[in-house]
Amino acid sequence: MSVLIVGSVALDYLETPFGKMEQALGGSATFCSISASYLTENVRAVGIVGGDFPQKHVDYLTSRNIDLKGLVRIEDGKTFSWGGRYHEDMNTRDTLYTELGVFEDFHPVIPDDWKQSEFVLLGNIHPSLQIEVLDQIEEPKLVVCDTMNLWIDISLKELKAVIKRVNVLILNDEEARMLTKHNNLIEAGKKMLRMGPSVVVIKKGEHGAVLMSKDNYFAIPAYPLEELKDPTGAGDTFAGGFIGWLDRTGDVSVANMRKAVVYGSVLASHCVEEFSIEGIRDLSEEQIAERFNTFRTMSTF
Ligand code: AMP
Repeated sequence: MSVLIVGSVALDYLETPFGKMEQALGGSATFCSISASYLTENVRAVGIVGGDFPQKHVDYLTSRNIDLKGLVRIEDGKTFSWGGRYHEDMNTRDTLYTELGVFEDFHPVIPDDWKQSEFVLLGNIHPSLQIEVLDQIEEPKLVVCDTMNLWIDISLKELKAVIKRVNVLILNDEEARMLTKHNNLIEAGKKMLRMGPSVVVIKKGEHGAVLMSKDNYFAIPAYPLEELKDPTGAGDTFAGGFIGWLDRTGDVSVANMRKAVVYGSVLASHCVEEFSIEGIRDLSEEQIAERFNTFRTMSTF
């Protein structure tokens, strides 16, 4: 099978109570692709970078078997950059700046032989770009969409048009409340299911994640970590692990999506342990399996 992932590729500035990092490799497509690459072999990334994007990052992504044929490089432009500062509790963050750079004129072009990708992950980017992707792909088996509060705020109409066309919507609790105007997450979930997708996954940070469909409700806790250094990319990493597992198994049943939620949570738990992508740079199968089993033990009674 194959997973097509579209999103941002970034050089971030990160500030958390544990330190700072400049020019940190980031972006939704980056975290999603790295995460998915631990579970499936055929990861295809579509995005854009500027001439300042270090070759070592391209080499690393390629070494993880991520196909970068869809990554455009504009030599005289600057790579998208996001600056974020986390509060003491790490649950909230302020965006310090967003410099679009080459992203400003980005229109994703899906290579012809990728248009029939079975699994598609619309990583967090402007919803009108997500629509451009949907218009180019042919009969995917499953489309998963991630988003962020910014688009609910400024591009709600376009976002609703995307949501209508996807199978799985992934967002966090704050975004679910914003989008539906319901404080209660069950009500919010039901409302989102009426907006188009047959499955909704709500991430609740340190409180885990919930999957809802018409007839299913599945909840898992977060992996019990004592120390997290940088939550950036945890949501994207979750989405990448989720779709990576579905692509590996080719099984889009809700029962299998429960396992996908666990894999997403396992990868996200590694992501937050280090800055940028460092926590997921080089994981072994054993490290992933060990945390997967911990989730099973934690949730059995
Ligand atoms: P997350 O922590 O999962 O929300 O994802 C963080 C990543 O999202 C960072 O690496 C940023 O570069 C990227 N990001 C932040 N704002 C945007 C945006 N407006 N569009 C696309 N990607 C973004």
